[in-house]
Amino acid sequence: MNINKNYQNLEDSYLFSTVARKQREFQEANPDKKVIRLSIGDVTLPLAPAVIEAMHKAVDEMGTKEGFHGYGPEQGYDFLKQSIQSYYASHGTQLETDEIFISDGAKSDVGNILDLFSQDNVVLVPDPVYPVYVDTNTMAGRKIVYMNANEENGFLPLPDASVKADIIYLCSPNNPTGAVYDRDGLKAWVDYALANNAILLFDAAYECFVTSDDLPRSIYEIEGAKKCAIEFCSFSKTAGFTGTRCGYTVVPMELEFDGVKMNKMWLRRQTTKFNGVPYIVQRGAAAVFTEEGMAQIQENLGYYQENARILSEALDELGVWYTGGKNSPYIWLKCPNGMESWEFFDYLLENANVVGTPGAGFGKNGKNFFRLTAFGDREQTIEAVERIKKLLG
Ligand code: PLP
Repeated sequence: MNINKNYQNLEDSYLFSTVARKQREFQEANPDKKVIRLSIGDVTLPLAPAVIEAMHKAVDEMGTKEGFHGYGPEQGYDFLKQSIQSYYASHGTQLETDEIFISDGAKSDVGNILDLFSQDNVVLVPDPVYPVYVDTNTMAGRKIVYMNANEENGFLPLPDASVKADIIYLCSPNNPTGAVYDRDGLKAWVDYALANNAILLFDAAYECFVTSDDLPRSIYEIEGAKKCAIEFCSFSKTAGFTGTRCGYTVVPMELEFDGVKMNKMWLRRQTTKFNGVPYIVQRGAAAVFTEEGMAQIQENLGYYQENARILSEALDELGVWYTGGKNSPYIWLKCPNGMESWEFFDYLLENANVVGTPGAGFGKNGKNFFRLTAFGDREQTIEAVERIKKLLG
């Protein structure tokens, strides 16, 4: 037996464990200090009442002979796919239900989709980046090239015609930078992909944070994208499903390479290796799209958006350069006085007792940047902002 040696090329990630350890050590040494965490990427508000009600009802159904559900369709129940179809239509994108695949979250699909691509493809990922894109391709032994996201391009890199890539990752609104592509930016990527016979893997996990009408929520708002892009989305941030687990992937019928429909390949992959998301969870997810559910999740999203506004307003006042904060739950700030991100992490922890995430953990271009999140508690966010203003003002 030979192991997959590509795993030895994975870089150990100490980012979140180091953040947690440093926080713990500081707290142990300073038990009287109240540390505020603005480093969490997880949601903190509970599920919407409409979701809970729908899941309770589904649980009861499962206890009856008529309402029991065993194995469901691997690609998801029609009722949920139809709800997602209507949601896309409400933003001007028409999809067929067979183009929508329900899963247990975007992370799984982002990794699993790689089953469809041969190993010799060149992968293009932005730096900094959500680490899953790099690690899943490293496991498969693919060649990865990086594109620089930096202050000059507002952390929104555009295609470079001299770079030849086959599989391109885009995440907008972005984790960790909070930056959001406009239509022209995404069109440039669609044009590049079409011209180079490349595929775009578009991660829309944070689309629900887009409130500006002029910014795209979906890659399919760009003409030609159905011929070159797969989109991943999730109920995690939209509706607080990080622990409930449900997401979806859109693989358009028009997407073909070598005369083969990617939709057909993905259906084959999913029906072979996946047995579907629990009925109870899919009922909960469908409740998100009811009038009631939509109003309730908007309230939760509004809470996080207000936190983001409070954080960005403080940085505006301090004259600190940042991306995100608007149309995104993440704020990506430039560390003051040329500090490096871990140095700033210690400085902020020791002097303001606030924890954030050092940008260096997301790639070399994050070296002088720092991520704050809007997923925390309101009172604590306000208090953290006051402390940061006092420290940096
Ligand atoms: N994509 C991005 C960019 C993320 O930041 C995350 C989670 O933080 C995910 C995907 C994973 O989403 P899910 O919970 O649906 O697996």
